[in-house]
Amino acid sequence: METWLSLWSIGQFGTIKEFNEIKMGGFDGVEIWAEQLKSKEYLEYAHQSDLKVGVHLPFHDLNLATPDHAVTERSIHVLSEWLETMAKYGAKHATFHGGYAWSSEERDESILRACERISRLKKVADENGMELLLENLIPDRLNYCHHIASNTEEWLHLVKSLNIKACLDIGHLAMMETSWEEAITRLGDSLGAVHLSDNDAKSDLHLLPGEGNDLSRGLFEYLQSKSYSGPVVYEISPYKYSLTDIIAHVSKVKEKA
Ligand SMILES: [Zn+2]
Repeated sequence: METWLSLWSIGQFGTIKEFNEIKMGGFDGVEIWAEQLKSKEYLEYAHQSDLKVGVHLPFHDLNLATPDHAVTERSIHVLSEWLETMAKYGAKHATFHGGYAWSSEERDESILRACERISRLKKVADENGMELLLENLIPDRLNYCHHIASNTEEWLHLVKSLNIKACLDIGHLAMMETSWEEAITRLGDSLGAVHLSDNDAKSDLHLLPGEGNDLSRGLFEYLQSKSYSGPVVYEISPYKYSLTDIIAHVSKVKEKA
């Protein structure tokens, strides 16, 4: 199992010095947050700091489940370009969101469209030696729109039927009312990465583990017992914590292990 950091967690003004601190702080890799202003510079900093890289693909203004042709083509184009860029830096994984239905009534058709577009994207990922990781998202409790995938059955079905992998977000999962024991067991070899943060099971607060409901208590031991060797990506709010706070937390966790 590897310790990674989502670069969302360092905010928009990271420096090469901070990347060296991330490396010295015991992180194996960083997940590029494609929507950040300096995402391409961060990619270069990560490379210079000898950190492994993966990517969280962009999702705002892009929707893989859209009924709109232009939005479809634009989404596939932007995501494909990122896959190609990341492959040049030796990346192996790309976390992505499956898009959303405009209304809950339109959910079934939207999922069919998402499947077709994810298959197209998977071809590009395969050509570039990368793995696509579908992330579990927070259900819209208003039932107004529907995020793909935001219930456990749908998520597992998409991952298995499209022959892709999953990014398991522990914080989102708490709002899907599924235990991570169940998700990890049912995903089996399809688990590609874990997004780690804590919350109160009501909103997605991205707290350091232990500062919310302690959602990840026992998680590392459980992953080890399943011989999981992929990234555990700390995805911690940059609006509440500094990089120093995050590194101090991770050092404590590593000392205890
Ligand atoms: Zn995400």
